Amino acid sequence: MSSALVIDGLSKSFPGSTTPVLTDVSLTVGAGSCTAILGPSGSGKSTLLRAVAGLDFPDAGRILLRGTDLAGISAERRGMAMVSQRPLLFPHLNVLDNVAFAATVRGVRKRAARADAGEFLDLVQLGGFGHRAVSALSGGQQQRVAIARALAARPSVLLLDEPFSALDQELRSSMHELLFRLRERLAPTILMVTHDRDEAAAVADRVAVLSGGRVLQHDPADRVYARPASLEVHRLMGGLN
Ligand code: ADP
Ligand code: MG
Repeated sequence: MSSALVIDGLSKSFPGSTTPVLTDVSLTVGAGSCTAILGPSGSGKSTLLRAVAGLDFPDAGRILLRGTDLAGISAERRGMAMVSQRPLLFPHLNVLDNVAFAATVRGVRKRAARADAGEFLDLVQLGGFGHRAVSALSGGQQQRVAIARALAARPSVLLLDEPFSALDQELRSSMHELLFRLRERLAPTILMVTHDRDEAAAVADRVAVLSGGRVLQHDPADRVYARPASLEVHRLMGGLN
């Protein structure tokens, strides 16, 4: 499988702190595959994702997308979309226009953008919800709107930062099914942060275990579970958080 995304030797410290948040992080994500970054709170997962998105800048290392170094390419021009733990939707726009927004910003005519948005709402099974106010939706529904909006931007890489962690177990399972469906349909390259090892096992092809800003193991998901590379990985897999 070809590599869509290559993270190579990424390091990052924040000013005023002597402890680096990321140290020499390298990861390769195959085109159309899903890699989960699994690690305890504070291990640097969000910082890594933000660096890939272009929202934060590493001190050292490179990020390549299909061979192109992304240094100097702004977040808007990276062809990526990010969904975070709490969806940031526009409260003054209805559901359909929240999803259509990304396309209208790109210059797509409103009518075409809305038609397109409707299809993505169908995909996340919110077909009948387009004209509702976002405030009238449940947390899980809002998260699905955020995913539809991210997809409507036609990203080549989808970055998911603990997107389902605020949801109850039942909703989370239905989100995992949703992710499975959209992978079948659209095959985006996915980098997903989670601190839930069951979630990583359910959705990811490969798992990168991050602790203290270092990758401890990066392997196919089943191998990380069956053959942890170290006692520390074993311990993390047994009792995250
Ligand atoms: P995770 O997502 O795994 O919980 P984060 O990447 O959010 O971890 O944070 C990793 C570490 O970096 C934490 O110790 C956090 O306090 C620190 N950190 C994150 N963002 C900043 C920032 N903007 N300034 C200073 N420290 C930060
Ligand atoms: Mg985080």
